[in-house]
Amino acid sequence: MARAGELVADTLALVGEHVQPGITTGELDRIAEEYIRDHGGVPTSKGYRGFPAATCISPNAMVVHGIPGEHRVEEGDLISVDVGITLDGLIADSAATFAVGEIGAEARRLLEVCQEARDAGISQARPGNHVGDISHAVQTVVEGAGFSVVRSLVGHGVGRSYHEDPQVPNFGGPGRGALLQPGMTLAIEPMITAGGPEVYLHEDEWSISTQDGSLAAHFEHTVAILEDGPRVLTLAKTPAKAGLVP
Ligand code: MG
Repeated sequence: MARAGELVADTLALVGEHVQPGITTGELDRIAEEYIRDHGGVPTSKGYRGFPAATCISPNAMVVHGIPGEHRVEEGDLISVDVGITLDGLIADSAATFAVGEIGAEARRLLEVCQEARDAGISQARPGNHVGDISHAVQTVVEGAGFSVVRSLVGHGVGRSYHEDPQVPNFGGPGRGALLQPGMTLAIEPMITAGGPEVYLHEDEWSISTQDGSLAAHFEHTVAILEDGPRVLTLAKTPAKAGLVP
């Protein structure tokens, strides 16, 4: 999984470099798929429950599960990219929201808060804690900043399958839910909005956007719980210049 995670991080960084005005999300997806396959990986999302692409790419008010296509990236966009890769039978999953050129102050803060929330969640991913400790840490950061957590979308276990138990909500009480134990691997992924928490499903049956049209952000890491705490498996070696990938 760590090797899969490294390839996920490199793929996200590569896509991030290409998130520039004028490119389409379909072209970004082709760049990702070629890189993944050239490095021996399989894009986990392609064909997953019928999803047609190697990545999910969700602009602006779209939160997750956007189907790459004709959308042309523009200056000021927020572009969320979600990548899952299967390598030698094991899966890692990560997402980042990239800023295209100059974005507004609130959009910038939304990206910063989403990463801060993800990292607060990760810091709770240690043996003896519960899933609810992760959830509560994420929710506290997001709502403390005046933003909203999408409640109908959750993080998850990941490893031999793309989505495994336990679910990892981005809201909830500390001490609740499954006990965290060494060897568990979780996708921790705040999906947050600058407005209300309500979302809707588009007619394509995949894309999910904010009900009120407010901007959304999504940052995700795959994390292994070790005896001495969390190990992030999807860390980029070099920060992408277009965005805020850590
Ligand atoms: Mg993902």
